[in-house]
Amino acid sequence: MSRNRTATKAMQRRGFMQTALGTAVAGAGFQAAGTAGQPAPGTKVYRESIATPVIGKYQVVVAGGGPSGVIAAAAAARSGADTLLIERYAFLGGNGTAGLMTCYNGFRNQRPPETLQTVKGIPAEYIAELVRLGGVADIDNYERNATHDIRKGDIPYTVGFDPEAAKIASLNLLRKEGVKLRLHSWVVAPMLDGSRVTGVVVQSKSGRQAIAADMVIDCTGDGDLAAGAGAPFMGPASTGDRMEMSLMYRLGGVPASITGAFGGIRIGDRVVRWGPGFGGDGLDVENLTRAETESRLKLWDQVQEMKKKPGQESFYLMQTATGIGIRETRRILGEYVLTEKEAIAGTRFPDVIAISSNPFPSYHGKRYFLSHEGFDIPYRALVPQKVEGLVLSGRCISCEQAPFQSARSMAPAMAVGHASGCAAALCALRGVAPRKLEVKELQKLLVSQKAELRL
Ligand SMILES: Cc1cc2nc3c(=O)[nH]c(=O)nc-3n(C[C@H](O)[C@H](O)[C@H](O)COP(=O)(O)OP(=O)(O)OC[C@H]3O[C@@H](n4cnc5c(N)ncnc54)[C@H](O)[C@@H]3O)c2cc1C
Repeated sequence: MSRNRTATKAMQRRGFMQTALGTAVAGAGFQAAGTAGQPAPGTKVYRESIATPVIGKYQVVVAGGGPSGVIAAAAAARSGADTLLIERYAFLGGNGTAGLMTCYNGFRNQRPPETLQTVKGIPAEYIAELVRLGGVADIDNYERNATHDIRKGDIPYTVGFDPEAAKIASLNLLRKEGVKLRLHSWVVAPMLDGSRVTGVVVQSKSGRQAIAADMVIDCTGDGDLAAGAGAPFMGPASTGDRMEMSLMYRLGGVPASITGAFGGIRIGDRVVRWGPGFGGDGLDVENLTRAETESRLKLWDQVQEMKKKPGQESFYLMQTATGIGIRETRRILGEYVLTEKEAIAGTRFPDVIAISSNPFPSYHGKRYFLSHEGFDIPYRALVPQKVEGLVLSGRCISCEQAPFQSARSMAPAMAVGHASGCAAALCALRGVAPRKLEVKELQKLLVSQKAELRL
């Protein structure tokens, strides 16, 4: 812990940029992230005066209904907390459904050693529901040399899925646990009492409203709430291993004469594929507008070209993702920053709350496979610096870029969601701050809910 704190301090000395809505840390291979909409000095401003009605109070509020948020909300409710999940879209599933990224990677190592299924517990129950709904894809393009039987609960490295079934499986899981749901709602700011998050402000067709909470979990992917509350964060480097955005799409009309996965995730004559990529800042709305415009125009032309090939005349662009898929934005600085060295070595931590066994998909241009069953994610990586009342989850947790590449995959993101949900519930029920939570109690709760912690 003290070694890690020193490294963080050194990073902070090397480069530091303060923004009104968050603190971005530059240097040590990191670049300052976007400024979350705050006016640059000297910009003309319009001052709003807003009195926001507080419309409810919950023990746990989960911001964001992606793979991590859905599992976090289910876990918090199962652990006894009155829980509300808030999502900006009209459906759940995050990048798996809205982003059309239809394979949950990282339930175990892709290559040997892969005997241990590292993600179990509520995420495995979610997969069982997907199986029950008939929502597993026919075939995917991931090589693997071990067989596992998903129908017996022995989940393979990756689970290709039907995004519509994933939306239903998420709803079913939340209903079963009694989670309250609020869709069509953007979380636009934290409610703050000093450095303590006391709820969230949401914007929807019902207007601007505030919802109070004993504990909030940031499952927005981008760490919107943590950054908004003033937690320091790391942004991706503009060069090197920065992971680019990609527009996923579903190609229809793939004939049976074309066999195999056809470079994607296949269900019958439909194949989800990786479309055009785009670089730059995934938090800059002008860059995002360029990314959407250029990638959609390019993809249309690509499909028209594909149709010209003999045997591919029946192809058509069936569906594109709701928005271009954004792989990498903020990683919030927590009480501990999990390092590349530790992930590669498979360092074990006494405060383990989840395991990531996924490869680093783009490590210096190559897919890097772990030589061990998976690396531990310590609880301290879920506790943001400088902010109280908030737990991190999903792809914004506190780690360096290499472990991020691994743990951002949806299976480990679900496992982290399981832990953040249990942690937030314990904090809310005991009246304890996340920084002070007794980790042994959290681990005991997670194990009782069948999470794999290798304890
Ligand atoms: C192109 C691409 C390919 C990928 N390939 C794979 C792969 O093959 N397999 C794999 O497992 N993973 C893959 N990933 C990674 C994976 O999809 C994400 O890292 C993962 O979904 C992160 O989960 P999350 O729950 O943290 O965030 P998300 O899935 O991003 O979910 C965040 C949720 O919060 C909501 N939200 C965000 N901000 C707000 C707000 N302010 N208010 C309200 N709601 C909000 C979003 O709408 C979303 O539902 C890929 C990612 C991309 C972009």
